[in-house]
Amino acid sequence: MWRALFVSLSRNRTMKERVMRWGFVWRAASRFVAGETLEDGLRAIRELEALGIRGILDHLGENVESEADANRATEDYLLALDRIETMRSGGSLALSSLPHLAVKLTHLGLDIHEELCERNLRRVIERAARAGTVVEIDMESSAYTERTLNLYRRLASEYPNTRIAIQAYLYRSREDVERLIEEGIARIRLCKGAYQEPPHLAYPRKRDVDASYVRLMERLLSAEARARGAYVAIATHDERIIQRALSRIREWEVPRDAFEFQMLYGIRRDLQAALARQGFTVRVYVPYGTEWYPYFMRRLGERPANVWFVVRNLFYA
Ligand SMILES: Cc1cc2nc3c(=O)[nH]c(=O)nc-3n(C[C@H](O)[C@H](O)[C@H](O)COP(=O)(O)OP(=O)(O)OC[C@H]3O[C@@H](n4cnc5c(N)ncnc54)[C@H](O)[C@@H]3O)c2cc1C
Repeated sequence: MWRALFVSLSRNRTMKERVMRWGFVWRAASRFVAGETLEDGLRAIRELEALGIRGILDHLGENVESEADANRATEDYLLALDRIETMRSGGSLALSSLPHLAVKLTHLGLDIHEELCERNLRRVIERAARAGTVVEIDMESSAYTERTLNLYRRLASEYPNTRIAIQAYLYRSREDVERLIEEGIARIRLCKGAYQEPPHLAYPRKRDVDASYVRLMERLLSAEARARGAYVAIATHDERIIQRALSRIREWEVPRDAFEFQMLYGIRRDLQAALARQGFTVRVYVPYGTEWYPYFMRRLGERPANVWFVVRNLFYA
């Protein structure tokens, strides 16, 4: 109900135009968004690097409606990759801490034409490969799951520097994960899922989503999956699940190059730092850009307490 409200607000243009003009909303959003420019994103990446945490740069944007906008978004990603390469060659970022790039396929034109999207995605992945980094494909609502997986499949064998997000709340994810393992391309960011989905497609109850998450995580950490090249980014702030992951990792002697932890910018910084201090790879998803409204609405939908945070900014900023 709460999530449904905010996911629906995230798609409402009139609200978007109105809300984005209110300074106090931006002040609240800036807890989750590094800033409006690429330089803001890179500054956040450097700050994380100082704590031993790696980054994923996410240039905010989704559901573009024209080919020109999709091409512009692609150019922006290429520009970010140019900057990453310059930072690397200038020595201000170590190779091991080069940020990954997150992309949403509807930002690259999936709503307009699949071929346009594939062309743009290929350009970004090829450029990322030259820069020595990885492209992580975000998973959007279920309307896009099949097409996103198909595009990933077409490119993943050719480009090992690609990963895909899988949402534990979808019933289909169990089979999708099995297929990806079988095909030797299970390089997966495992998340719970942030959209509003109907009960015939996704578990409506949180406890079932959590159970599905643990099942998929354990499958991806298993020796059998690892023997087929599986890699899992455990993308959650759920401490119980993280503890479960840590005990399985110990018990099954999972090597550190077979998994990592991922969290969102501004959420559970304490946990991010604690895991990094223990020597685990921790990667934080750093969104930047002017199109922050839908991303921020999804973060509000995840946690009612965040709305009080917005209200506090109205009175105390
Ligand atoms: C790196 C990363 C990438 C992601 N990529 C995708 C994607 O491609 N597609 C997709 O659908 N979803 C994505 N998500 C979002 C994900 O699906 C969840 O909606 C989100 O992570 C919240 O779920 P949780 O696993 O943290 O567990 P929850 O059970 O929701 O939360 C566990 C705890 O985390 C903290 N927490 C969680 N959310 C918030 C919040 N908004 N504000 C403050 N505290 C919070 C709270 O302490 C909470 O008790 C991603 C998440 C991460 C971490």
